[in-house]
Amino acid sequence: MSECLFCRIIAGDIPADKIYEDEEVLAFKDIAPKAPLHVLVVPKKHIASLEDLEEGDAPLLGRLQVVLRDIAREQGVAASGYRIILNCGKDAGQVVFHIHYHLLGGSPGLNLD
Ligand code: AMP
Ligand code: ZN
Repeated sequence: MSECLFCRIIAGDIPADKIYEDEEVLAFKDIAPKAPLHVLVVPKKHIASLEDLEEGDAPLLGRLQVVLRDIAREQGVAASGYRIILNCGKDAGQVVFHIHYHLLGGSPGLNLD
């Protein structure tokens, strides 16, 4: 069994409030939301952080952003605006080392502080 939390969510070993899934991508609600809408969008491929990204992963990250955009539309925040955040490493506060975008929306002044 993987020691990676998000790999375990992807495998279905740990429950999550999933809102989108395809062959390459999973999106689920953050367990500790920092905004009315706080979704995490992850590749199913385990990539620990942006520092571990390989050249061939570039289309996958682009795909994640298309999914983020579509989720923002479906969740009704596209018109009001939203923020996407990718924390990389200790000083950025990355705690789960499986690359993920945060999608935050639904209120003004969105941040993770
Ligand atoms: P980061 O600081 O960028 O690594 O963000 C990790 C995020 O994962 C945090 O916002 C956590 O609230 C979130 N998180 C941790 N465990 C879970 C879980 N089991 N299900 C959903 N989100 C989680
Ligand atoms: Zn993983």
